[in-house]
Amino acid sequence: MFDKLHEACGVFGIFGHREAAKLTYLGLYSLQHRGQESAGIASADGERVYVTRQMGHVADIFDEPTLAELPGQIAIGHTRYSTAGESKLSNAQPILIDCVHGQIGVCHNGNIVNANEIRERLVRAGSIFQSSSDTEVVLHLYARSQAGSPEDAIVESITQLTGAFSLALIRKDQLIAVRDPHGFRPLALGRLGDAWVVCSETCALDLIGATYVRDVEPGEVLIIDASGLRSIKPFPPQPLAHCVFEHVYFARPDSEVFGESVNEVRTELGRRLARETGVPADVVVPIPDSGVCAATGFAEEAGLPLRFGLIRNHYVGRTFIEPAQSIRHFGVKVKLNPVRSILSGQRVVLVDDSIVRGTTSRKIVKMVRAAGAREVHVRISCPPTVSPCFYGVDTPRRSELIAATHTLDEIRRYLGADSLGYLSLEGLLHSVRGQGKSYCSSCYTGKYPVAFPQDQAAYLQLTLKPNDDNAEPQPQEQPETVA
Ligand code: SF4
Repeated sequence: MFDKLHEACGVFGIFGHREAAKLTYLGLYSLQHRGQESAGIASADGERVYVTRQMGHVADIFDEPTLAELPGQIAIGHTRYSTAGESKLSNAQPILIDCVHGQIGVCHNGNIVNANEIRERLVRAGSIFQSSSDTEVVLHLYARSQAGSPEDAIVESITQLTGAFSLALIRKDQLIAVRDPHGFRPLALGRLGDAWVVCSETCALDLIGATYVRDVEPGEVLIIDASGLRSIKPFPPQPLAHCVFEHVYFARPDSEVFGESVNEVRTELGRRLARETGVPADVVVPIPDSGVCAATGFAEEAGLPLRFGLIRNHYVGRTFIEPAQSIRHFGVKVKLNPVRSILSGQRVVLVDDSIVRGTTSRKIVKMVRAAGAREVHVRISCPPTVSPCFYGVDTPRRSELIAATHTLDEIRRYLGADSLGYLSLEGLLHSVRGQGKSYCSSCYTGKYPVAFPQDQAAYLQLTLKPNDDNAEPQPQEQPETVA
């Protein structure tokens, strides 16, 4: 319902704990924000691999009897939001196969940009795919590998992939973690007693009482079995391209990703936003929950009070029944309600992390005005989103990104705000380590670090004016690859 980009997935894996499936279930609770369409767990007991996966939230899928059917001291788990592939059970993960190298299951966060190419090649060679997910190609490459050992077959498979992939794989007696050489998506390594844990975000380690050891390095493969943990680095070195949007919006503020506290980075974005786009005002109000950290930094820097002038209802399901008599902005009202005593008569700075199409922001501005605000100044803690993501984030077509086709003042007028300010790209990149040199920021620049096939690039080439479905398609520039 909210006009936001969506993260693709969360992954979790554990080796060497007698409650492996239960701890994975708990870990997935912490990673629920990374995907709410489906979830699954695979476990292994040294003899074979077991799997359960369903559409829905973690809490709706797993209970004591379900978890009891997942025995063993090894497990992997996944929360999914579909980016490549449709939202249906056959695309839920872990995906499990049995082949000449034995059973193997996989969980994936990211997007394999050459998946279609590989898939076409394999289909011509006789492979039969069960899903439309990009992840399935990993298993087909593994099954067809002539390598002498399962480990070599994994290495042979993953080194054919390009794009973004943080993977957790399970065999009957092994947990394997893989991170692509650009390090697009996070993947942390932790310890719980003698057990090893891998997960997308460190908040999952906190929940189960594990300690953070380090990140799985970009281009690293960790093989964990009864003989311990081994690290191999089969990829040629590549420029790093951590997703900066993990810091802006996706990751939980209580996580550390790419070696930095998300809360600290996000608060700094707010401070810089205040320095760059400060405006005379009475109160700073975050759009909850995503705007809270940046609003805190903004208020601190601007010397203004931070007040929670919008209250979010956390108990709204994915769908709800609308009244026959249409209520204006019903969808947003179900989730957010203004606090009139905070907003009435005030000059309000509304802080959020991003604007995608602008549709929700426009409704929120109207809601704040209707609650009596004298002025509404919208401040966004990242630069305008002008290009789609091909590395594991659900982005609308370029034509639907309001900042790709409209000037700042056109967007301000569409939102109905008195003023609008975005953080600059420099401001964003100076808020993360190394002035952002190891980060991907393609959705703000249109310059892509990893090339993608032209059938996907074609998707960038048409644009329709937002809110005008009858407008003629306009030619757009080709995306630029800077690899
Ligand atoms: S394009 Fe944007 S969302 Fe995608 S990986 Fe790069 S920074 Fe992240």
